[in-house]
Amino acid sequence: MIVVDGSAGEGGGQIVRTSLALSLLTGQPFRVEKVRAGRAKPGLRKQHLTAVQAAALLGGARLEGAAVGSTTFSFHPGPIQGGEYDFDIGSAGSAMLVLQTILLPLLRAPKPSRVSLTGGTHNPMAPPFEFVEQTFFPILRGCGAELHIRLLRHGFYPAGGGRVEVNIEPLARLTPLRLLDLGKALAGRACALVVKLPAEVARRQLEVVRQQLGWSDLQVQSCDQAHSPGNMLSLAIPSQGMTEIVTALGEKGVPAEQVALAACQETARYLRIGAPVGEHLADQLLLPMALSGAGEFVTGPLSQHARTNMDTIRLFLPVHFETRQLGPETWKVSLS
Ligand code: ATP
Repeated sequence: MIVVDGSAGEGGGQIVRTSLALSLLTGQPFRVEKVRAGRAKPGLRKQHLTAVQAAALLGGARLEGAAVGSTTFSFHPGPIQGGEYDFDIGSAGSAMLVLQTILLPLLRAPKPSRVSLTGGTHNPMAPPFEFVEQTFFPILRGCGAELHIRLLRHGFYPAGGGRVEVNIEPLARLTPLRLLDLGKALAGRACALVVKLPAEVARRQLEVVRQQLGWSDLQVQSCDQAHSPGNMLSLAIPSQGMTEIVTALGEKGVPAEQVALAACQETARYLRIGAPVGEHLADQLLLPMALSGAGEFVTGPLSQHARTNMDTIRLFLPVHFETRQLGPETWKVSLS
């Protein structure tokens, strides 16, 4: 039984998600202790518990000690089963992070899967739907995966209630990814989403994008069907091999312009560094890379989140990630 220290490195929920995925994929049971000890409210929250239960269901796993607030639990996996699944977080917790837990295991299932997820689709500190749809899934498709995601309803904090549907075809093995050059960045696209909010909020954000980045492909997306209002500005930066999505979520009391400025500054930084893989994508590519057994990418400064994820992966798989600093702000991560 692998014993996972949930307080290691960053000490967050990623240790739990990565352990669940790799336990299912390798058939190795694990016990995690000091779950999310690095966070203000340690232990499993609703979103993490849904991920644990989802992983247990699709892997016929025996679970001991998992409940909201648990700081330790154990997981004994069985074989991964594809099929129809419907998971509801029951809060605004991120549906995208539950998906992050079960996606790669379901790629290895013997039959196709259709997964519906209810919860937050646009959360702070989690991949928003647009990032999964336009950045992460296309990269996995480039590695041979057949995957599709559809947004059925937006879910913002505090009500959640967003819904996505994901289709996953089985795949024996992902091919190695290679994302080394930004190349010539193509024209960017901005989309300001307003849900149950006036379109004026979106227009003000797009005006900031026009002024700060000089972009002209500016789109307002307006929608009224959701449990609570929300706003997100997403900036798509297409390059030769991929599209990076930078997002900023609107917040009550924070002027629309300030939200837009934060996204513009992050985009300017991404373009200045000139590495194709952004900070968040970097930690999310490590698991697919480890499963394909090889690959390489160039990114900006490696986050502690990414380094903690590498350490968690090494508990389950005999892989060695090589990290080499290429310049003041760029790193190459490779696995061979
Ligand atoms: P917690 O213990 O609070 O649950 P965590 O470790 O689960 O924390 P985070 O460290 O906040 O969660 O990161 C969750 C995941 O969401 C990471 O894979 C990160 O790359 C991703 N993520 C966060 N923000 C974004 C973003 N703006 N775009 C894309 N992905 C993001």
